[in-house]
Amino acid sequence: MDPDPPRDERLGPDIMPMSENQGFMKALKCRECGHEYPLGATHVCEFDFGPLEVAYDYDRIKTQLTREVIARRPQTMWRYRELLPVAGEPTVGREVGFTPLVKADRLAKRLGIRELWVKNDAVNYPTLSFKDRVVSVALSRSVELGFKTVACASTGNLANSVAANAAAAGLECFVFIPHDLEQGKVVNSLVYGANVIGIRGHYDEVNRLCAEIAGKYGWAFVNVNMRPYYAEGSKSMGFEIQEQLGWRIPEHTVVCMASGSLLTKIHKSYQEFSKLGIVPKTPWKIHGAQATGCNPITQAQKAGLDFFKPQKPNTIAKSLAIGTPADGFYALRVMKETGGSGDDVTDDDIREGIRLLAECEGIFAETAGGVTVGVARKLIAQGKIPADSSAVLCITGNGLKTLDAVVGHVGQTREIRPSLREFEALGVADGAELVNA
Ligand SMILES: *Cc1c(COP(=O)(O)O)cnc(C)c1O
Ligand SMILES: [Zn+2]
Repeated sequence: MDPDPPRDERLGPDIMPMSENQGFMKALKCRECGHEYPLGATHVCEFDFGPLEVAYDYDRIKTQLTREVIARRPQTMWRYRELLPVAGEPTVGREVGFTPLVKADRLAKRLGIRELWVKNDAVNYPTLSFKDRVVSVALSRSVELGFKTVACASTGNLANSVAANAAAAGLECFVFIPHDLEQGKVVNSLVYGANVIGIRGHYDEVNRLCAEIAGKYGWAFVNVNMRPYYAEGSKSMGFEIQEQLGWRIPEHTVVCMASGSLLTKIHKSYQEFSKLGIVPKTPWKIHGAQATGCNPITQAQKAGLDFFKPQKPNTIAKSLAIGTPADGFYALRVMKETGGSGDDVTDDDIREGIRLLAECEGIFAETAGGVTVGVARKLIAQGKIPADSSAVLCITGNGLKTLDAVVGHVGQTREIRPSLREFEALGVADGAELVNA
């Protein structure tokens, strides 16, 4: 017997008839049983609670999307729009993406690897993290589905991006965060006029509450009922890496993980580009990075397990502090299938990673970036990323938002009166060249 179709109220207040334009999307499809659903605001399968994912018409995309077509378009993430889940023109976050891919020679030397690249989403637009990618997709799709109010459960960066992009799009906005986030993250949500709700609890409790609220109010929760669309936005980071490398897939990619979604979507971006013939199909390995104070995914990876054990987070890497990662299972599978590995680093190693990247490349990453650099360093030292190979590090957020984590650990200002004698008494310029030596 056929199951009941999903109820209409799950599809958003003003659902487009399915006969209308759906772009290159075909349906929402359960990752577990393959059952298909209409392209509304819904995220779990009714039969097995499997996550829903956007299915595309790849045959049609293949006839339209080529390197030449992409290269002619503006330098934003929307140059890959056929592979992003909006039906029409994007309306929110049209300037997002195409952040620099930096050849990191000095850092490569320090870490002992032949070739190293840094994908720098610390300077993404408008809120300085990779979350601007997922939010521009989720909000553009929310507008298409007729929503007027948007919301999210966040470890900080997502809240910032939803708040900013909602403000620019004239949408009402609610963001839910753990109450003890960094000042930088909190202020960066409040300033846009969003309703910021601090929950006395861990992210998992924030998330659980949001699932309840999403079931009751007709809001677009970007990472709850809009999650299938939201998650797809992460692919754009991987598309850009491939294009910026000269249309090829990197041998090794190191990605930090909160829910694990970004890691799985970078993998998917390599699969899609190679399947469409946009890049040659060469082998790749994806490595996952976490903080030791919240390492459910890398702990399972290191133990060779397919399932993680939930944890209570305790780390300065608050943007990654998810003890029950929604995509942890799939992230483990990607690491295993690609032959990648995973590891985690202590809070001290995270700070060390932040400093290494800053001192070698002039890039100030947030704690999550310190995790990526710290884990890359470990994997290179262990030979899991071989010294004669090439790797890309995904830097996902900006250090100016997590100053709390590094204050007191990056040296100190020397304070003097405005006097040459006092400057020279410091001894910092001893041995430096003089003008008339
Ligand atoms: C959200 C976030 C991530 C990873 O998120 P996933 O849930 O694993 O997709 C990584 N870095 C930063 C800075 C983030 O804010
Ligand atoms: Zn299912």
